[in-house]
Amino acid sequence: MKPIIQTLDLNFQGHSETVAAFLVVSNDEVALVETGPHSTFETLKTACQAAGHPLETIKKVFLSHIHFDHAGAAWTLAAMGATIYVHPFGEKHLIDPSKLYNSARQIYKDEMDTLWGKMEGIAPERLHATQHGEKIPLGNSEMIAWHTPGHAVHHIAWQFEQDLFVGDVGGCKIGTGIVVPPCPPPDVDVEAWVESILLMKNLPVKRLHLTHFGQVTQIKKHLNQLERRLKRWANWMKPRYEKGLTANEITPQFQAFTDRELTRYGIVGEHKAQYDSANPAWMSVMGLMRYWHKKKI
Ligand SMILES: [Zn+2]
Repeated sequence: MKPIIQTLDLNFQGHSETVAAFLVVSNDEVALVETGPHSTFETLKTACQAAGHPLETIKKVFLSHIHFDHAGAAWTLAAMGATIYVHPFGEKHLIDPSKLYNSARQIYKDEMDTLWGKMEGIAPERLHATQHGEKIPLGNSEMIAWHTPGHAVHHIAWQFEQDLFVGDVGGCKIGTGIVVPPCPPPDVDVEAWVESILLMKNLPVKRLHLTHFGQVTQIKKHLNQLERRLKRWANWMKPRYEKGLTANEITPQFQAFTDRELTRYGIVGEHKAQYDSANPAWMSVMGLMRYWHKKKI
């Protein structure tokens, strides 16, 4: 039987095509790539049920990385008996998410629950720290883990035959829009990201699956555009960071800079709201400031 890949739209914050999870069915085995945040857990549950694969049947969950919009509901799947495959650097934060949760709480404050929901610890025996190049059997095929830092040090791109699930290291591209690099703190690293882009370009795959959002078939064009824009954003930030401007001063300027780019490509209204929701400007400001800070010390 041919494997099936199905994109599940988690309808994050009421926006369609903003945050995805993916069902992968190989032979009679069902896996999930990404879980979305816990705040969209009911949507995930309903979508899996509607696809004929209720959550109880999912025994393997592959996470691109541990940010809330990708991994926030992993603990619920683990509690139902699934094994969670994660980068070795992410494992301890899933066992004890208090550091992750508390630092996010300082940023999001009262919005924490509505944006992300709850995050509870995962029992160590339900976690599998996955090495670079490791192959995990799935049905009559396998998932291959490619460590791909740049967006986060704990990032994995998962290859399933000729499909590659690229999490955030493959950028955000919504509908017919442009590809943009989500640059959150604390470990955006432009050089590492460029190396990961090269790694992805050299894989024998035909499709990329973006968590934000969906399928890309023009892989080289997409990844070249991502690399160019990542460098452009980082270079835009450099003189402002060096001048000693604060994040509060830079954010409106960066928002205007990226808005101009979106408008130029006809991305307005709800389409722009999808981009802002998947990749808020203030977040990339914080991440890129930290990147230049780390390069200085
Ligand atoms: Zn992320």
